[in-house]
Amino acid sequence: MKPVSRRQFIQKSALTLAGSLVPGALALAGTDHASPSAPAGITGRIFKNTAPNRPWKWSRPADHTVPYSDKTLMCGICPHNCLLNSGDRGICRSRVNIDGTLYTLAYGNACSVNIDPVEKKPLFHFKPATRALSIAAAGCNFRCLNCQNWQISQVMPEDVRFHTLFPEQVVAAAMEKKAVSIAYTYSEAITWFEYMMDTARQAKEKNIANLWISNGYINPAPLSELCEVLDGANVNLKTFDDAVYQKLNGGRLAPVLNTFKTLHKKNIHFEITTLVVPGYVDDAKMIQQMCKWIVDHLGPDHPLHFLRFFPQYKLDRLPPTPVSLLTQFRQIAMDCGIRYVYVGNVPGHEGNHTWCHGCGKLLVERNGYFLAQNNITDGCCKFCGTRIPGVWG
Ligand code: SF4
Repeated sequence: MKPVSRRQFIQKSALTLAGSLVPGALALAGTDHASPSAPAGITGRIFKNTAPNRPWKWSRPADHTVPYSDKTLMCGICPHNCLLNSGDRGICRSRVNIDGTLYTLAYGNACSVNIDPVEKKPLFHFKPATRALSIAAAGCNFRCLNCQNWQISQVMPEDVRFHTLFPEQVVAAAMEKKAVSIAYTYSEAITWFEYMMDTARQAKEKNIANLWISNGYINPAPLSELCEVLDGANVNLKTFDDAVYQKLNGGRLAPVLNTFKTLHKKNIHFEITTLVVPGYVDDAKMIQQMCKWIVDHLGPDHPLHFLRFFPQYKLDRLPPTPVSLLTQFRQIAMDCGIRYVYVGNVPGHEGNHTWCHGCGKLLVERNGYFLAQNNITDGCCKFCGTRIPGVWG
């Protein structure tokens, strides 16, 4: 038999998969390999883990597991729908099939804990100037080439330094620090769904709000469960081009759009963030289509944030986004009818602030993440009385 190189083997394996290879997959500690033949419509891509798989302190049987055959399981948390044999680890690296049981390895295993102003999420229309206890565990179901938090998102839970922080301890910490909310953020909380859900349920009982900062790449059943405890969200709309979604992020556009529709239907406050990456997300026509879709399907009231890109991770040779492009995109969005359009990562830009869509006056002036003035009273413009969409108080 003719020998094949590692590269040829990987390419051949990738071609046998129902979907395209997730960018960045080769950075995993294990070897990627083809899944067993998946049921129609399932595009699972899995990784043979080289580290010993065993339940440990932070393991818990995973929710939304679908038995497939004998010891093979499908994880139903996100649209990757990973089909996992015993010993296999999902694309997110934090869910493992151990001898026929799917485990999350991130439960109570927080690798990042901070108190942030809620504006940092960014959430500009949710209880301004309040504190959000922000937590993350390791793992992500995307492979963004520009990831800011790759040190925790693109690694296994065993490979990061962590705080042992079970749900009741997270809630107690939020109360002690006088945080109004808990934000599930920095990495992708979908991949540590059970940890987020148990924390969120306990937070609810103590009147602490739950904020989900996400790529929105989640299946309908877990999303519906999550919506029961959610008070606000910021969901990325990385681009409006499915090919770019695959290339830049390792995901698909359609499931993310469905997430927005569900959040809107369930009347959950959410804001949308698009990072404007030169060469990937810089087409004015695409932005116009995106904004039209937002207005047509979600209405004009969900705030949209365009963020400036700075060289990061695998895109460290790209230039920062020109400020003129962000200004242009903001204008396009407003012309399409979106009422609150922000520009982030550009200090001093008028898009840092909130302007009343009724009278045009300055409502909230921001200096970084901090408020210089706030002219919203009881959720209305103090000058003309127009109701401002959001969660105030
Ligand atoms: S959450 Fe992880 S294991 Fe589950 S389907 Fe998504 S990537 Fe795969």
